[in-house]
Amino acid sequence: MICSICHIGTCKEGITEELFNKNGRLIIMKDLPAMVCTNCGAKFFKEETSQIILDNLKKAENSNAELEVISAKVA
Ligand SMILES: [Zn+2]
Repeated sequence: MICSICHIGTCKEGITEELFNKNGRLIIMKDLPAMVCTNCGAKFFKEETSQIILDNLKKAENSNAELEVISAKVA
């Protein structure tokens, strides 16, 4: 799959992490499976991964911690 951002690199399956800012709170999500561009580093998530991200963000809303680190690893 050629990267749709830079049109130079190819996207390879890998594990990445993503930083979210929700109402001033920082949420780091680790262990996310993604296609990562070898040239520009752009990340592309599959639909099921996007759903995991949304679910985890929803769960994180119930916490008051200013910084939260979540593993997206599916048990
Ligand atoms: Zn790229």
